[in-house]
Amino acid sequence: MAKPPVERASPPTKPAFRGLETKLVHAGADHVQGAVVTPVFQTAQFEYAGETDYHDLRYIRLNNTPNHRGLHEKLAAIEGAEAALVTASGMAAISTALLALLQQGDHLLAQSCLYGGTHDFVTDDLPLLGIEHDFVDGDAPGSWRAKLRPRTKAFYLETLSNPLIQIPDLEAAVEFARSHGLLTLIDNTFASPVNFRPIEHGFDLSLHSATKYLNGHSDIVAGAVIGGAELVDRIRRKLNHLGGSLDPHACFLLERGLKTLAVRVRHQNASALALARFLEAHPAVIRVNHPGLASHPRHARAARLFGGSGGGFGGMLSFELADGEEAARRFVERVRIFVRAPSLGGAESLVTRPATTSHAGLPPAERERLGITAGLVRVSVGLETVEDLIDDARAALEG
Ligand SMILES: *Cc1c(COP(=O)(O)O)cnc(C)c1O
Repeated sequence: MAKPPVERASPPTKPAFRGLETKLVHAGADHVQGAVVTPVFQTAQFEYAGETDYHDLRYIRLNNTPNHRGLHEKLAAIEGAEAALVTASGMAAISTALLALLQQGDHLLAQSCLYGGTHDFVTDDLPLLGIEHDFVDGDAPGSWRAKLRPRTKAFYLETLSNPLIQIPDLEAAVEFARSHGLLTLIDNTFASPVNFRPIEHGFDLSLHSATKYLNGHSDIVAGAVIGGAELVDRIRRKLNHLGGSLDPHACFLLERGLKTLAVRVRHQNASALALARFLEAHPAVIRVNHPGLASHPRHARAARLFGGSGGGFGGMLSFELADGEEAARRFVERVRIFVRAPSLGGAESLVTRPATTSHAGLPPAERERLGITAGLVRVSVGLETVEDLIDDARAALEG
């Protein structure tokens, strides 16, 4: 006879779990058999225990093993939301959320300059299902209304844009969406919950590529959807059908990574700001894009939105070299600590040239118009000693 499922362990976010670090370490922990760390439940299915709804059968694809549940609880707790869902990748979180919320004939309003995968999903895949879209300047609220249609259902934004680290008018977006009955979705990957918690600012859904800061060790691909219980449940049911569920071992690694999220991101915030200040003062550099610099056009907005509860301006920055493409190429070739690789948010500092990597698909004139020049270098600041990073950058600039 099957025992009833162990609906136990931590009652959702114990009142004692107040601070972000405490939630990161303890929320959702399953001390099964006295284990301090939630073990990997490497089993595809569990015995029947009287479930009546298909979606409640305990099976990895149905996103409800103890490893999934623990993560859901932790992710909801750290962004102050009712519920969360982990997915097999960031793109699984984004595509599944959009597919769950939009149907044929619906219209999506989205900020322009989205993450490449999201942009292509919206422009290549959604139209095949009869779901239309318009891109708007996320920092020009006055222009949004003209793009509304009778069947506009949702407004999609990113907390920080890649690679210029721009910040849309997030407060206006929430207000606009509320007054027009739109759902708000925001890709919060670049900020991480340490620096920005979208639900606290009125967004309906926060999406993550957990591949980046949430896991933080560049060793798995995963995603997350965080928000109200009803919305997350709709998305969970869609995910159950589409099948993009996270494997329990990857759940285990993600939970392990999450425990140090706040410590890592605060270190990265501080190092990125120090590196940004160094670069800004260097004669070989003409522009540095980092929201912690007073020269960032939205520095005041960033300070208002990201500064609370020990948050900061993030670990991402980009900069433009005075001598353009050739100098950028030299910089990327000469660095010895920074690793030349895509992605972000891990322990290793990374460099890329967006014009030849993430944005290589854009026509050169369009790239230049957006400000993604051939002389632009993007950096994901890792966990190394910041003086070493600055010395490495100096040597690469002057070498
Ligand atoms: C990496 C990334 C994604 C996609 O996530 P995957 O885990 O690679 O599927 C989505 N949005 C942003 C902002 C990203 O950086």
